[in-house]
Parts: sequence; structure tokens; C-alpha cells
Amino acid sequence: MQDKTNQPREPQGLETLGIRAGYERTAEDEHSEALFNTSSYVFSSAAEAAARFSGDSEGNVYSRYTNPTVRTFEQRIAALEGAESAVATSSGMAAILATCMALLRSGDHVLCSNAVFGSTIVMLNKYFVKMGVEVTYVPLTDNEKWRSEMRGNTRLLLMETPSNPLNDIGDLAFLAELAKQHGAKLVVDNSFCTPVLQRPLELGADIVTYAATKYLDGQGRCLGGVVLGNKEDMAEVLGFVRAAGPTMAPFNAWVFLKGLETLQLRMNAHCQAAQQLAEWLNEHEGVANVYYAGLPDHPGHDLAQRQQSGFGGVVSFDLDTPSEHAREQAWAFIDQLKLISHTANLGDVKSTVVHPATTTHSRLTDDERAGAGIGQGLIRISVGLETLTDIKADLQAAFDTVR
Ligand SMILES: *Cc1c(COP(=O)(O)O)cnc(C)c1O
Repeated sequence: MQDKTNQPREPQGLETLGIRAGYERTAEDEHSEALFNTSSYVFSSAAEAAARFSGDSEGNVYSRYTNPTVRTFEQRIAALEGAESAVATSSGMAAILATCMALLRSGDHVLCSNAVFGSTIVMLNKYFVKMGVEVTYVPLTDNEKWRSEMRGNTRLLLMETPSNPLNDIGDLAFLAELAKQHGAKLVVDNSFCTPVLQRPLELGADIVTYAATKYLDGQGRCLGGVVLGNKEDMAEVLGFVRAAGPTMAPFNAWVFLKGLETLQLRMNAHCQAAQQLAEWLNEHEGVANVYYAGLPDHPGHDLAQRQQSGFGGVVSFDLDTPSEHAREQAWAFIDQLKLISHTANLGDVKSTVVHPATTTHSRLTDDERAGAGIGQGLIRISVGLETLTDIKADLQAAFDTVR
């Protein structure tokens, strides 16, 4: 007789875990994962209610605390990441917020890469500084600067690699060791790589966060996030999420579960398409620079090759245009595109394009932008899974009109 509980045997490949892990079939014998779209749960008696509230009895109370669909997503992504535990959140920013709220107190110091997601910087500067947390920013790739900026009260090192939009590569093993030496924790936003391409915990990182909104969903449908790490840290993160409420919605968890089932396939296909597009752009007469770590002359190429198993799906490039016309030309280029969607999201099966200097990075001052290498002629593409010749044809039509 077949065991219908759906639990895979050991050992388990990433593809298997993405498709199977974390789910226990209900008494209905459904094949696809059930969606428990409920805000609360019924108790069989007053005594049972009391026991569930006190924690004496396991079981669901309310979906801000636990929800079976959200739990399945957490268990599946934890299996993929090789993490002890996962806590799902309402967005990628909520994952970073929950991590910081759980692990920081007034008087602590955070050392943060200056090339993290823009809202992370706003969140730290506007809210955590107000609550007495010190924050210092360092260039992602400058190991000596990371070392020299460490303080006695440094609690967290925050970074993401590859960086958005230039694909700079931070040294995970170095930063993990640095954090360890100082009794701090390394937190890695792994949204660009996913566990398919990069496994920060295996390189010594303490905590991984995701905007599930990006590649974990993969089709641009839902906002969500997740924090992964050891049981003790995740108990703290879960405590914050339960009390404060940035909980993942069950429907979103169900969508992300479906996303995880094709994650491996999609990531490999994104990498392949991005590599080919980067090489094509690199040879293109309309392009001055291409920023993709899969190109051998990218400064992070060797490091990326060591710590990633693929270079990811985001390619950025500078138009070859005099700087006084760069913005106008970049806008004209983007306005000509018909297939590639002009939208700020990334990690979608649909290719997307954005002009970082006037959108995602518009809050920076001109000097900060110049320091970060984000020029007015820079264009970021999240390479989707349409037929590559169609993507190139769309770009070529735009090159033809701006020249
Ligand atoms: C999008 C993104 C976030 C924020 O995710 P939301 O779901 O939009 O809150 C955080 N980090 C990275 C690297 C991202 O790309």
C-alpha cells in the first residue's frame, strides 16, 4: 500500500525538496497542496481553547500565529536552504524588519553594505537610528573597510550579493568569519540568487532573508518574505512577527509554494538567458559597459564563481552616449521597448526594465549615485524566460532609435 503522506525519502535533491518538502496531505487525499484560507480555528471545548492559548496543546489558534499553508511554505524553503527554521513574513522588507527588531536593541551598532535594497537603508536611517541603533555603511566589496569599521557593539552585518543593479559581489565567507570573530551575526539578503544559486548558511552566514516577491514567486503575483536561520534566532523573529503582525497571508504562501516547485528550473533558465544577453550586449556597439558577474572581466567574476553556482538573471548596462545626453537617451531607449515590461519588479518570467538613476535609486544624492557607479545612462534588465531572440529584437529596435 502506498504511503500517502507525501514525505520524500532521504537523500533529497533540491528539485525534489522544492516540489515535495514540507507538506502533509490532509484526510481529503488532495494532490495539490491545500490552501487554508482561514483567519482562525475552532476549539473542541473551553478546556482545549485554554490549552492552546497556554501552549500546553499544540494546534492552531489564529493565523497571525500559525497557518498550515504558511507552515508548509516555511518548511519547504527551510529544506531548500538547509536551515533549521524559517519564519514567513508579509514582504521582503518585513523579513528585514523582523530580523532587526528581533536581534537589535538600543545602543547596538549595525554595519551595512551601502549597496543594499533602498528601503533597507531608509528603514535603518529613519526608524532604527531614532530608536538608538547606530548604523554605518561600507562598500560591499571592500573587505578591509568592513574589518576596520567593526565596533565593540556591532551586532549585525547586513548585506546582499550580488548587488542591485551593478552585480557587485560581496565576500560571504570573509564576512561570516569577521562577524564570528566579533560575536556579531551576518545577515544576507539572498533574494537575487535564491538557494538554487547561493547558500550563505553553508558559507557561515547566520541568517538569510528573502523578498519572496522576486524569484521565489517568479511570476510577479504576490508580496512576501522569509527569514531563515537557527532555531534560537528564528524563535526571536517569530516572536516579533506574531506579536506585531507582519505575517504572510495564506494565499500568498500557497502561490510561493507553487513558485518553489519550479525554482530550480527557472533559476537555471534565467542564468542561461542572462549570460547570453550579457555577452550579446558586451559586443554591442551601442553599449559602453555591461555589469554581469558571468562576464570574465567583471571585477567580481572569480568570487562569484566560487560562492555561487550561477550568475543570476539581472543584467545592467551603460548606453554608449555622452554624459550630457545619457538620461534623455536612456529614457528614450526604455520608452521604445515593447516586449520588455517597464516596471520596478524583478525576478519574473517576464523580462523587466528600469532606469535605476531616476527610479529605484532616485533617493540618493547625485554624489552618492556617482559613488555607487549608477550613471544616468545605466539600464537594468531582469532577464525573463521569453524566447531570447525576441528579447534581443526588442532591445535592438530601441538601440536603432536612440542612435
Ligand atoms: C524587492 C527586494 C526587497 C524588498 O522586498 P518587498 O517584498 O518589496 O518588501 C528586499 N531586498 C531585495 C534584494 C529586493 O530585491
